[in-house]
Amino acid sequence: MVPPIRIWCAGLGLRPMELARRLPDRPTTRFAPSPTGFLHLGHVANAVWTWGVAQARGGRVVLRMEDHDRGRCRPEYERSILHDLDWLGLEVEPENRRSFEGGRSAWRQSDTPERYRDAVARLARVATVFGCECSRRSMAAAAGAGPEPGEELRYPGTCRDKGLELVDGRGIRVVLADRVVGFEDLRLGTMSQHPARQCGDLLLRDQTGNWTYQLCLVVDDLFHGIDLVVRGEDILASTGRQILLGEMLGWSGPPRYLHHPLIMGDAGVKLSKRAGSATLASLREAGLTPAEVLGMAAHRTGLLAAAEPIAGHRLGELFR
Ligand code: GLU
Repeated sequence: MVPPIRIWCAGLGLRPMELARRLPDRPTTRFAPSPTGFLHLGHVANAVWTWGVAQARGGRVVLRMEDHDRGRCRPEYERSILHDLDWLGLEVEPENRRSFEGGRSAWRQSDTPERYRDAVARLARVATVFGCECSRRSMAAAAGAGPEPGEELRYPGTCRDKGLELVDGRGIRVVLADRVVGFEDLRLGTMSQHPARQCGDLLLRDQTGNWTYQLCLVVDDLFHGIDLVVRGEDILASTGRQILLGEMLGWSGPPRYLHHPLIMGDAGVKLSKRAGSATLASLREAGLTPAEVLGMAAHRTGLLAAAEPIAGHRLGELFR
C-alpha cells in the first residue's frame, strides 16, 4: 500500500495535492519515445508521470514511436522499448496491445511520411515555407561567436528570401510569427516564450530528408487528439514553437502541458544514454522488480518520499 503523499517534494515544485487538482479529466496523453537507444530511468520517470496522470484522471496513453530520424533509429531499440514497457506492466491503448508481442508499435512516424508532407503543404498555404541549404556548421559560422551558454543556435534567415525550391537535398523551414507565446504549465505555472527569437525559422525537414521532431510531434499530437502532453522539463523550450506550429496547422487549441522534473545523474546532468545512465535492462538484470524500478523513478522525480515499490497499475495513486 502506498501511503498518501503529504510531504513537500523539493523536486516537484508544488504540493502533489495541488498538482492533482489541476489535472484535466479523461485526458488523452502519449508516451512518445524515440527508438534511438534503450530505455533508462529517465524514460521510466516519464512513463510514471504519463501513466500516473492518465490513470488518476481516467485517461488513456497513446504509445507512439518517434522514429523520424531514420539514421539513428533501430528496430531492435523499438522491440526493447516495447518489451520494457510490457515488463513494467504499463497498459497501452487497444490499437497498440498486439505491439508488445510483435515488437512493432501501431503508431510509428516512419510509417506516415505522407502525413508530414501534407502538413507542410498546408503550412505553405498559411505561412512562408522555404527551401534551405544551411547546415548547422554554416549557421554556427554565420552566428560568429555563437550562442551564449544555455541559448540555442538561432537560424539567421540566410535562405529565407532566396526562393529555393523544396527539392530533395535541401532543408525546409517555416517562418514563425514574431510574437510571445504564453501557456500554462500544470506544474510550473505561467510560461512565456518567444520562438522566433529562440530558434528563428523552424526546420521541418532536414537536408537528408528526415521530417523533424517538431513537425512530426505536432502533426501526430493533432492526429491522435492529444489534449495533455506530459514530458520532462528538458523539452520545455520547444513548447512555444510547437504551439505556433499547431496554430498554423489549424488545431482548435493547444493541449495542456505538464513538464515534470528530470532525474539528474551524479554530476548534476540530465540522465541520458550518453551520460552513462543504466538501462532498464541492466536494472532488471541486477534483480530489481518492475515495481521497484517504478518506485525509484517516482521517488527521484519528487512523487514519493522514499523509493518504495509501486506497481504499474497503481501509478494513479501518486496523483490523487
Ligand atoms: N520523442 C521525444 C523524446 O524521446 C519526446 C516527445 C515529446 O514529448 O516532446 O525525447
